[in-house]
Amino acid sequence: MDLVLFGMQGSGKGTQSKAIAEHCNLVIFETGAELRRLSSEDSELAQKVKAIIESGNLVPTEVVMEIITDFLHKLPAGKNALFDGIPRSDDQKEQFDALMTKEGRSFKGLLIELTEAEAVKRLTTRRMCPTCKTIFPAAYEKETCEHDGSTLITRQDDTPRRHSRAPRHLPSKDRSSDRSLQSRRKNAHRERRTAHRKSDSRYSRGP
Ligand SMILES: [Zn+2]
Repeated sequence: MDLVLFGMQGSGKGTQSKAIAEHCNLVIFETGAELRRLSSEDSELAQKVKAIIESGNLVPTEVVMEIITDFLHKLPAGKNALFDGIPRSDDQKEQFDALMTKEGRSFKGLLIELTEAEAVKRLTTRRMCPTCKTIFPAAYEKETCEHDGSTLITRQDDTPRRHSRAPRHLPSKDRSSDRSLQSRRKNAHRERRTAHRKSDSRYSRGP
């Protein structure tokens, strides 16, 4: 059984996907990482992807599906996948469903639920290392990168304005206005448990 993880930006999806993948022994599919992997290859698909990226265009859904197929075919026998951030549109969803059926793979969707206010809070307290680009969650207390000692910065694209829209089914009540680091960490833990528990069938609750 493969997993498809959903959650708005700021939901900690990347962190959760790593934790779940480790716990359940899954291989993560994340489009950005796959594109980087392909860029070091010399396959026909890699050439195609390179040409698209160099032209400045977005990678079309058809090619994303080819990348997923390539990924699935390279999965060790008996290994399952965790899809992080894919499918991200109705168009992708349809083609993803068809692809998974064709490849004979069953999967479940997993939604990380949190309020928009919580997501914004998490985004604005998330910091990045300007040197190695590692992202540190709110719970990371040091001011410097654990890898190279650089002083951490708040990411430019993580300002709340950019994330003011939330899915309609999520309540917008702000329960996070005076959270301390510690309770935020506790919350991250609760969220992780939620992620494990909220195992909905396919896309019934996806964005
Ligand atoms: Zn660093």
